[in-house]
Amino acid sequence: LAQLFRPLDLLGMVYRTIRQGAIDMASMFALIDTAPDIADAPGAVPLHVTRGHVRFEDVRFGYDPDRAILRGLDIDVPAGTTLAIVGSSGAGKSTLARLLYRFYDVEGGRITIDGQDIATVTQASLRGAIGIVPQDTVLFNDTIGYNIAYGREGASDDEVVRAAQGAAIAGFIERQPDGYLTRVGERGLKLSGGEKQRVAIARTLLKNPPILILDEATSALDSRTEADILATLEAVERGRTTIVIAHRLSTVVHADQIMVLDAGMVAERGTHAELLRRGGLYAEMWARQAREREQALAAE
Ligand code: ATP
Repeated sequence: LAQLFRPLDLLGMVYRTIRQGAIDMASMFALIDTAPDIADAPGAVPLHVTRGHVRFEDVRFGYDPDRAILRGLDIDVPAGTTLAIVGSSGAGKSTLARLLYRFYDVEGGRITIDGQDIATVTQASLRGAIGIVPQDTVLFNDTIGYNIAYGREGASDDEVVRAAQGAAIAGFIERQPDGYLTRVGERGLKLSGGEKQRVAIARTLLKNPPILILDEATSALDSRTEADILATLEAVERGRTTIVIAHRLSTVVHADQIMVLDAGMVAERGTHAELLRRGGLYAEMWARQAREREQALAAE
């Protein structure tokens, strides 16, 4: 019987998630493939973000009881700073972001924001405080203006334009024949990966969250687009506590701290310069990606 009702539960969850303004999470976390069962704790209170200090304290987690993914993770991201997480595929980088958004509950340890355990606050307030720029942004079959305005219910046209400017996509939109009313999607304008990411950035600017998760696109952008997006993201990160899930090391050089995750444990942490001096995993990854970059540039 439980099996029978599962699809309904799932629909309910998808609906609630969409209502909470978390549509991007659906793409980032492949919502349909997972059916976490997270509810507000009895007596849950709204999260009160004062500064945006994020901590993971001895966090343990696995999707299956017999396979640990995170094995006692300690992370400290002081308010307003940027933590970049690197590590091989499957190391647990996205899992960590899912836990912060409380798509799953930790099995051991706790995650706090400004000292409040996220398991004890309302999900709506938690998700309202966190903005996500996912790898792949889902665009609605609607106007580009609508797609940006989605970031915050009730946003005015002026605010949408300002967000588009902040995400450096306003010029592109204004060059379209119908401007902000240009339709995107299957029957409209097709946006490139970089343009879609800018729409996600504009949405996030509208939402204006104190905490930001950036899941860097794995799909290669050409080096100029990448540099442009990076400059935009740096502006968005300013003043917010940011966790970047990084696939390319060129994007983490300026992070306040870099964490190398390996099989659910922190293998190394430090700044770019510190980790290079250390000559360990990070230094190895850096040397490898530098060689790949040179080859790619030679081919361009
Ligand atoms: P990538 O760089 O490839 O995105 P990642 O470091 O973000 O990898 P995660 O997505 O956090 O890795 O996955 C960590 C491990 O958890 C992987 O072995 C993955 O197969 C497993 N995993 C991820 N999602 C689920 C799930 N919903 N159910 C079961 N196992 C999962």
